[in-house]
Amino acid sequence: MSKKAVETKEKDKEKVEKPEEAKVVEEAVEEKVVAKPAKKRVEKKKKIGKKIFTYYKLGDENLTRLRPFCERCGQGYFMADHGDRYTCGHCGFSRYKQT
Ligand SMILES: [Zn+2]
Repeated sequence: MSKKAVETKEKDKEKVEKPEEAKVVEEAVEEKVVAKPAKKRVEKKKKIGKKIFTYYKLGDENLTRLRPFCERCGQGYFMADHGDRYTCGHCGFSRYKQT
């Protein structure tokens, strides 16, 4: 009878230990869930097309173009201002500013 009593005690120990382990695992899972940051807000930047209006300056009665047209591509193809030169993004033509 004494042996059975010991066995039952050991079983009880196991029973006691097992739920503790289970609890630990559950806590770990909960921590992981808590550690997850809130949904990241991805800010979508709306892409606006070429801001053509930035290439013109509206005067009192007339429009003046701030950048010249490309000599190769013709009208409608503005050249980018790179400080000392103008370049065309369409054909790659570059023209140095006359100083
Ligand atoms: Zn061009």
